[in-house]
Amino acid sequence: MRILVTNDDGINSRGILALAESLNSVGEVTVVAPAREQSGASGAITLHSPVRITEATPNASRLRAYAVEGTPSDSVILGLERLLEKPIDLVVSGVNVGPNLGSDLFLSGTVAAALQAHFRSITAFAVSVTARKADTTHKVIHLEGAALLARLLARHARKGRLLRGTFLNINVPNLPLEEIEGIEITRTAHCTHVDVVQEGHDGKPNYFWIARRKRDDRVPEPGTDYWAIGRKRISITPLHADWTFSETRSALGSLVPLLMEGLHSPR
Ligand code: MN
Repeated sequence: MRILVTNDDGINSRGILALAESLNSVGEVTVVAPAREQSGASGAITLHSPVRITEATPNASRLRAYAVEGTPSDSVILGLERLLEKPIDLVVSGVNVGPNLGSDLFLSGTVAAALQAHFRSITAFAVSVTARKADTTHKVIHLEGAALLARLLARHARKGRLLRGTFLNINVPNLPLEEIEGIEITRTAHCTHVDVVQEGHDGKPNYFWIARRKRDDRVPEPGTDYWAIGRKRISITPLHADWTFSETRSALGSLVPLLMEGLHSPR
């Protein structure tokens, strides 16, 4: 089984090393990841400059690895189309250090990397540990649960037991394995946490920092990814590239005659 491992935290992050080493017993792992941190890069691709690749040894490991001067999506496209021998059976993105929950999935480089595999009908999942900034500062990041879960899922994928036609977004509470209380199959909560803008002054025209909200008192809806994490449970959300919201198609259709009328007799 050939496995491509990528992330958006950069090739030297602890999370990608833990993931790649965990998956190494399941199949032949190749790491292809951004040379530098690309969190928040979403599905961006580099079209207007050349993309360079160097062979890498993440944290002196023996893994076969390539550092890409580009985005997470660049890394997966290069890995799938150029660097790895085909067929490629599985793409895993992570372990991201930080949550990928709710509507913020649309901003996630981690999830977008898995999406590139999904576009090509390759089994894929993204995995994150929901560590907050303070956890990172104090170096309390529990990667073992996420790395182990990824290995279990990869084994199921090898046996053909992971569903095709979907890809998974997995968030693991930042807790020691024995404190995790279960697994929930969830849906994505409709909310963003990237809604903080801080203004700064440095003698030039004012500048701004866009940041993630630190505190949240909203009660998450049952069944959502946020709800599962709040209950110390692993959240697994099946995702799909089709963004069409079918329920509103017919309601929207009733607007068409009015729009056509407007187009034919502009006022
Ligand atoms: Mn990240």
